[in-house]
Amino acid sequence: MKKQPYRRRDLLEYKFFKRIILNRNIQPLAQLLSFLPFIFVVVTGTIGLSLGAKNFSVVFTWILWSVLLALILIPFLGRTWCFMCPIVWPGELIQRKLWSRFGTSRLLNMRWPRVLNNVWLQNFLFIGFAIWMVVLVTQPFVTAVSVVVLISSATVISIFFPRRRFCRHLCPPGLFIGLYSSFSPIEVRVKDQDVCLKPQSEGGCSKECYVGSEKGYGCPWYEFPQNMVSSFDCGLCTECYKTCPLDNIALNVRPFGAELESEDLKRKPDEAWRSLILLSLPVIYTAVLFGPWSWIKNWGDLLLYSTSVGLLQHLFYVLLVIDISLGVFPGLHLLTSASSKLLSGVKDISTKQLFVDYAYAYIPLGLMLWAGFNFSLIMMEWSYIPVVVSDPFGAGWNLLGTTHLPWMPISLPIPIAEIAFVLLGVVLSLKVGYTTLSRTFPEKMQAVRALIPFAVFTVGIAIVFLWFYV
Ligand code: SF4
Ligand code: SF4
Ligand code: SF4
Repeated sequence: MKKQPYRRRDLLEYKFFKRIILNRNIQPLAQLLSFLPFIFVVVTGTIGLSLGAKNFSVVFTWILWSVLLALILIPFLGRTWCFMCPIVWPGELIQRKLWSRFGTSRLLNMRWPRVLNNVWLQNFLFIGFAIWMVVLVTQPFVTAVSVVVLISSATVISIFFPRRRFCRHLCPPGLFIGLYSSFSPIEVRVKDQDVCLKPQSEGGCSKECYVGSEKGYGCPWYEFPQNMVSSFDCGLCTECYKTCPLDNIALNVRPFGAELESEDLKRKPDEAWRSLILLSLPVIYTAVLFGPWSWIKNWGDLLLYSTSVGLLQHLFYVLLVIDISLGVFPGLHLLTSASSKLLSGVKDISTKQLFVDYAYAYIPLGLMLWAGFNFSLIMMEWSYIPVVVSDPFGAGWNLLGTTHLPWMPISLPIPIAEIAFVLLGVVLSLKVGYTTLSRTFPEKMQAVRALIPFAVFTVGIAIVFLWFYV
């Protein structure tokens, strides 16, 4: 059996978990249960009061759901959200229940363009969403429209392309969830690769985990468990547990961040950019929402055109977000990679390789910045939750008697918590970074010297982020 790259424990040794994973009804039930609130988001966002803080759609989506994702689900349970996600549910239902009757129809089994077989488009779509963030968090109707756009695009893509192409290459929330789930302590992996490699003549399988069988579907995410070394693109859908005839799939708990330090992880340029873009956005969001420059927030609000904000100001805002996420952060990281190479004294290593490899080390810091941003969000805005539960449309109802609760921010613990999040992120990132560099450089001192510029950049980001809170 191949040596394990880090400590793991298979949760399926406990019969309780195994029974849940193998049950065919749990995923559709979870999807249905999560579909209902999103339908309500669309309804309240469309016909409710157009004031974000008084409308269920905005408060549920951008306070409750995003906080739940960034603070609990992703750090501790990886892609669990994707297991229950309603966005792609209608499309997948059409594929499985309706389209399967048309068998091999070419129109319904289109090939995904090779040029899009990566996360570049998803990176750009995420930035598009990020640019509209101010509008999304203040305008219920825009939130409703984005939910409809997400669900209908996922459905259209699922109609023409088999399996979950939308999830792998397009979904903006998926970009965020996938990247940071690599840090979480949950993973789907084969128990023993040798079992997968056994020839059929000796009792081996027919790769049912990938092609599917009467027991379940082939991996909807186009992952081949036998070779899986990362959780980026495993949607925790549990199909491979159902299809593997040799019971060779484990649901492991592992140390936080272990995958990022693993030698097996294949590091790719599009994923490196994904990490850098997602690292820049909590800093941008914090500056826009909690920073001292209220004009930035106004300029970001496209829908204020008619009143105080002009097209030119909004264009400036758009260029600022694009410039910071695609220019400043990656540019500084490139400079840091070049300095790292120089300081290490090693000539036969490429700056590009350092740029790509080291970008993965920012994942723990990025996750902690998102967690920090969401922590302050929930601390500042929590009191809107009981208000919209009592009066979801902002129509003057008072179902629970909490409609007139005043805004009650809890700002006292924010600076301490932000320092804790950021410190943890810096330490974990440098740990992953040092492990990565020690594999790249043959001597320990070279790796230490190479780490210095990255450490300066990492601490610099941390200081800028904390400046808004402390
Ligand atoms: S990638 Fe997006 S659409 Fe797919 S399951 Fe995850 S959140 Fe849902
Ligand atoms: S079906 Fe099971 S044994 Fe076969 S390749 Fe997949 S995980 Fe391995
Ligand atoms: S089939 Fe297995 S490997 Fe593929 S997404 Fe589902 S859980 Fe992950």
